[in-house]
Amino acid sequence: MARSGPLYTHIVQAIPPVVPFVGPETIERRQGRRFRVRLGANESAFGVSPEACKAMSEAIAGVAWYCDPEGYELRRQLADLHGVGLENVVIGAGIDDLLGLVVRTFMNPGDVIVASQGSYPTFAYHVTGYGGRLETVPYRNDRNDLLALTDHAALHKACILFLANPDNPTGSFYGSNAIADLLERLPEECLFILDEAYLDFVPADAILPIESGDPRIIRMRTFSKAHGMAGARIGYAIAHEELIATFNKIRLHFGVNLVAQAGAMASLRDTEFVAGVVKAIEEGRQEYAALAADTGIATLPSMTNFLAFDFGTQERADKTMQRMIERGVFLRKPVVAGLNRLVRVTVGTAEDRAVFAEIFRDVMRG
Ligand SMILES: *Cc1c(COP(=O)(O)O)cnc(C)c1O
Repeated sequence: MARSGPLYTHIVQAIPPVVPFVGPETIERRQGRRFRVRLGANESAFGVSPEACKAMSEAIAGVAWYCDPEGYELRRQLADLHGVGLENVVIGAGIDDLLGLVVRTFMNPGDVIVASQGSYPTFAYHVTGYGGRLETVPYRNDRNDLLALTDHAALHKACILFLANPDNPTGSFYGSNAIADLLERLPEECLFILDEAYLDFVPADAILPIESGDPRIIRMRTFSKAHGMAGARIGYAIAHEELIATFNKIRLHFGVNLVAQAGAMASLRDTEFVAGVVKAIEEGRQEYAALAADTGIATLPSMTNFLAFDFGTQERADKTMQRMIERGVFLRKPVVAGLNRLVRVTVGTAEDRAVFAEIFRDVMRG
């Protein structure tokens, strides 16, 4: 459409007019009715800790005031939890916010970023939005190809390498040795974003210990998954103190709301609640795998709160998902070649799973 007046930036003009995120609410408005179950965005159907809920309710009375711009108390708690210094922790409005901050800090327009093809779209969204160039590496056997990722980073002189581990959308996971090997191969001037959104679902002994001295790695965690606080928008990252100090130049100082900070602190203390969620999700994954097997559908191994169902072909995956959506089950699936035969199903409560199973069996019969 022709319009005179203020000019858009070259970066924004170059982005095709797509709608990056179609939420379940959009589909509900289109279909004219609500979903029966929402299993498409890996939120926690198990809700938020009652302790966190109480802390957030109490915090509401204080919202007339700005929060502490340093987020001191929460950062103190996180630093103690991970055995790092306060100066190694930054909080943000979810990992999504922190990814943007890191991209702005380390990427000049035109710079190359390396990630897996079809990995977490919000990261690619920031890269494009700030004028970077994404060089992608295909998945290999439905897992991130760690060797190819570091090779690509070196080949393209990438400023950032991104990896989600555990991975979204496959659910796959690499243990501490593989990640340590990746760091060995990582070019000196490349920043490694290790997106650990699903780390709460991983046994502690499989996790690479946090060692805040390497200036090439930043590890990101969120309260959106196991802690059940996706709508509160809060997460954090751990990195070398110089990186954290540099983020202060450009981060929004009041970007993480006071209510979310209060909830996060209480949820961190309620370890019993989170452990219960993790256990329930493990059971749910097994239930999904059995259901899929029962209908002749394979599933990928998962260390997350979702399971990727493998329909063999894109056509069958698309058709099945579309029918599920029409029947009131919100789902999402990868679009890239190689992964587009998968449909990602979030582990819901036992009740959600019963609704899912009933509709799924019905759709598979038809
Ligand atoms: C869910 C998810 C996040 C979480 O983002 P928030 O902004 O903290 O809600 C980040 N990365 C990946 C790979 C995810 O799947």
